[in-house]
Amino acid sequence: MKFNTKVIHGNQQAEPHTGAVNVPVFLTSTFAQESPGKLRAGYEYSRGSNPTRQALEDALASIENGTRGLAFGSGLAATDAVLKLLNPGDEVIAGDDLYGGSYRIFTKLFEKYQLKFKFINFDHPEKLAEAITEKTRLIWVESPTNPLMKLVDIETISRITKEQDILLAVDNTFASPYLQNPLDLGADIVMHSATKYLGGHSDVVAGALVCKEKSLGEQLHFIQFASGGILGPHDSYLVLRGIKTLALRVQRHSENGEKIAQYLSNHPKVGQVFYPGLASHPQHELAKRQMRGFGGMLSFNFKSGAKEDAIHFLEKLKIFTLAESLGGVESLANYPCMMTHASIPEERRLQLGITNDLVRLSVGIEDVEDLLNDLEQALG
Ligand SMILES: *Cc1c(COP(=O)(O)O)cnc(C)c1O
Repeated sequence: MKFNTKVIHGNQQAEPHTGAVNVPVFLTSTFAQESPGKLRAGYEYSRGSNPTRQALEDALASIENGTRGLAFGSGLAATDAVLKLLNPGDEVIAGDDLYGGSYRIFTKLFEKYQLKFKFINFDHPEKLAEAITEKTRLIWVESPTNPLMKLVDIETISRITKEQDILLAVDNTFASPYLQNPLDLGADIVMHSATKYLGGHSDVVAGALVCKEKSLGEQLHFIQFASGGILGPHDSYLVLRGIKTLALRVQRHSENGEKIAQYLSNHPKVGQVFYPGLASHPQHELAKRQMRGFGGMLSFNFKSGAKEDAIHFLEKLKIFTLAESLGGVESLANYPCMMTHASIPEERRLQLGITNDLVRLSVGIEDVEDLLNDLEQALG
């Protein structure tokens, strides 16, 4: 099946008992057994598995070309499960331009359990080879990154990790499976904040993992079962429903994103625009090779460099809503230094380029003329 078909049919069947075309929301914590240990359909207790969550997990595996999907109560619960594969003393190498919450769970939570984290710039894969030690067990990357839209060459990195028995996990939240499938590029684990494009309607917080290797899938399922960070049946249904329109939505997000990036890059008040679809993006060639489109996420700063300009712009927006999060049908604007990336120490944040005049946009699927008019009046 091709992608547009897979989001609707991939590993998805009508409910076997009634023929219901949509998977029912199985609001049950437990399942009647015929005799001790003799289960009717393999279900025992909903922390272990639940038919609605299972349907979502199967659909996730299909759209990311993996063998096992797992659905969690949030993106960070999914990240938490990956880190629990590791042992004290193990080292993780992560990108230096990460979602703020990923940085927080690494440094504020897991360093306490003696995991070591190194943050590097993946622009130069030879730097990765230098950073790897015999203790390195996991490489964690985002591509494109949040909020600076930097790309990581997943295939090149996977060649390095495969030689050394190191796991490569890719946070694929920004691209979504419509634009990029990291498992096909050699990653071992793909992670999503399903809160974003997979759910797509800003109505649910959820996370996902997909992997190809069966025994890794078993280990991650054991962690999910043992730690309990599962997604409930109703939320599983919402994400499953979101996935059905993922292809249509991301297509429009990308069309609108490209037009808005072009518009901003020609605006006299705008400094730099960070969008992989622009020819001026330093990794535009890699973006064309690695992604099937450029998506709806972009960020920009002001020529003046002034914090006040960014704040004034954000206050003036009418259609773009000033809010955390991204990937929903509605356009959102975010101010990384005070919102999504406030957990990164200021000195480090500025070093990375997450300056006080940086604005991030999640371009929605509205009519692009209305979005352009909104930006025009707010910049004016
Ligand atoms: C939102 C987000 C997360 C965290 O996901 P939650 O669902 O909020 O826990 C992780 N990575 C990226 C890139 C995100 O945008």
